[in-house]
Amino acid sequence: MPIDATQPYDDQNIFAKILRGEIPSTKIFEDEWAYAFPDINPQAELHILVIPKGAYVSWDDFSAKAPPEEIAGFIRAVGHVARLHGLVEPGYRLLSNIGPHSGQEVPHLHVHLFGGQPLGPMIARR
Ligand code: 5GP
Repeated sequence: MPIDATQPYDDQNIFAKILRGEIPSTKIFEDEWAYAFPDINPQAELHILVIPKGAYVSWDDFSAKAPPEEIAGFIRAVGHVARLHGLVEPGYRLLSNIGPHSGQEVPHLHVHLFGGQPLGPMIARR
């Protein structure tokens, strides 16, 4: 079910549990600001989720409330994960869903990183 991205942060969401180690995940990258792990239901050859360690519902919440060093740290981590996988030269796609129209399901900010293949049109054609 898509979530309402204006809701308060719920620390029982699945990515909060992954960050606390209560639900298993395969660590791809971790630093002070971010944690990256494979999507459980990959939509491309490579499909990684990068999440901030801080408690933010969505990109909207994060961009409005996070301190500058946290924003910089998270964005740098996303770029780092892509470089770690050699994705700069072939190219890759970042996507973050925010609220009902996007179909966001997990109410903890996450950036989807897709790569490893040509990714096709940016959104499904109607
Ligand atoms: P959203 O639709 O919110 O942008 O994306 C949520 C993503 O989280 C989906 O692509 C879904 O496959 C992934 N996901 C949901 N639950 C889990 C989980 O327990 N582990 C992992 N690794 N990914 C999950």
